[in-house]
Amino acid sequence: MRFDVFSLFPAVIRPYLEISILQRAIEKGLLEVHLHDIRSFTTDRHHITDDAPFGGGGGMVMKPEPIFTAVESVLGSPPACPVILLTPQGRTYTQQVAAELAAYPHLALLCGRYEGIDERVREHLVTDEISIGDYVLTGGELPALILIDSITRLIPGALGDPDGAQDDSFASGLLEYPHYTRPAEFRGWRVPEVLLSGNHAEIARWRRQQALLRTWKRRPDLLEKADLSDSDRRFLAS
Ligand code: SAM
Repeated sequence: MRFDVFSLFPAVIRPYLEISILQRAIEKGLLEVHLHDIRSFTTDRHHITDDAPFGGGGGMVMKPEPIFTAVESVLGSPPACPVILLTPQGRTYTQQVAAELAAYPHLALLCGRYEGIDERVREHLVTDEISIGDYVLTGGELPALILIDSITRLIPGALGDPDGAQDDSFASGLLEYPHYTRPAEFRGWRVPEVLLSGNHAEIARWRRQQALLRTWKRRPDLLEKADLSDSDRRFLAS
C-alpha cells in the first residue's frame, strides 16, 4: 500500500511512522508513505501557499497553484490514484470506509490548513473527501495519520497477530469483547474464570456474548446492521 501525503507541515506526520506497527509495516515493504511539502512546489520568491479570501472575511485560504503542481508532478495528470481531501465537510470516516480504501494499492491524501483550500482544488483535483468526525481541527495532518494507521492495520501481515484486526471493534459490526492479562487477581478483582479454563470453545462463546452485550449496552445502533446468527439473536433476547 502506498500513500502520498501532501501537506504544509509533513514533519507532524513523520514521527508516527517511525514507531510500532507502521514502522514495521514499512520495514516489511507492506507500506510506503511519501511525504510532500506543498511549499516546496511554489514558484514565487517568497514561497507563498495561502492568500486572503475573495469576498473578504477572516483567515487565509490555501492557493490552488502549489497544490495542483505538487499533486500533478508526483502523480501525473490526471493523478494515478484517488486524491482524498481531509475536510470536516467530507463523508464520515468509519471502519467500513477504512476497509473500502484499503482495497486500493495507492492513495493520495491532501491536508488542508487555515480556512481550508481553494474550492477549485476540490472541484477539479480531489476525487473523495473524508471527515474524521464532526469537529474542526487545525490541519489535515492528524486526519491523514488516522487514515494511514487504520488502513495499515487492514493490510495482510501488518499486525503481529494475523487475526489481530478480525475481532477489533467494528470489524464484525460489533464492539470487541473485554480483555484481561496477568495477574489473574488484582486487588481482589478476579479475571472471569472461563478465560483461565483453557476451554477454547467456551472462551470463544463467552467473548462473542460479551461483544454482543457490550454493543447492545453502548452502541445498540450497530446491532441493526451487524451480521448476527440465530444463537446471537437468542442470546440477546434472553
Ligand atoms: N473552515 C473549514 C470548515 O469550516 O470546513 C475548516 C478548516 S480547518 C481549520 C483546516 C483543515 O483541517 C481543513 O482544511 C482540513 O484539512 C483539516 N480538518 C479539520 N477538521 C477536520 C476533520 N474533522 N476531518 C478531516 N479534516 C479536518
